[in-house]
Amino acid sequence: MCRKMKAAVMIAVMIAVIVICRDAGKRLKESIMETAETGAEASGSCLIVLDPGHGGIDAGKIGINNAEEKQINLEISLKIKKLLEDGGITVIMTRTEDNRLADTQKQDLMERVKIMNEEQPALVVSIHQNSYQESGVRGPQVFYYTDSAEAETAAEILQSELNKMDPSYTRKEKANSSYYILKQTEVPVVIVECGFLSNAEEAEKLISEEYQNTVANAVVSGIEKYIN
Ligand SMILES: [Zn+2]
Repeated sequence: MCRKMKAAVMIAVMIAVIVICRDAGKRLKESIMETAETGAEASGSCLIVLDPGHGGIDAGKIGINNAEEKQINLEISLKIKKLLEDGGITVIMTRTEDNRLADTQKQDLMERVKIMNEEQPALVVSIHQNSYQESGVRGPQVFYYTDSAEAETAAEILQSELNKMDPSYTRKEKANSSYYILKQTEVPVVIVECGFLSNAEEAEKLISEEYQNTVANAVVSGIEKYIN
């Protein structure tokens, strides 16, 4: 082979190597991106399960003003759902109407836990209202399962966002190891007790559209901070 031909062959080989490497690199990059997307979907990073407590014949706590906890839970949850969806987050609700998921309270809780475990969301937020024998007690309280570091982080953020609603709200998030929903779930779950139906002033606020929106905004801001 003459020198010129050798040089031409060398150049052709080098070009071929460059093209192959570039394509392989591109394919690798695409495959990494696909993996990242699938990974994000698999971990449910943008999926939240909302669980409005009680429903149907189970009214939950009855307020000093006769307000039923189940109704307030649903109203606040639907407001949270709307705000989250506006922010591009997928939401699954354990109930959207005034119903119980099964005949007994135990079966109802089992059904809720089943949904939470099957959907594998980034976070489950169970919405409830509190009650206490001393009518002066008020303010939000967030619970998390004792052994879940993720739920503890979420609870801390949510409690802090809810405390911003009123300077007198200074409660800290609380660990719990006995609530069925916290114990039986394989995903991070927090229970948000928005306020006390045993406190006259708070019971009135909790049935108002305005305060429900304030609570919903605080919860959504907490959820967004947690998942980001
Ligand atoms: Zn409740």
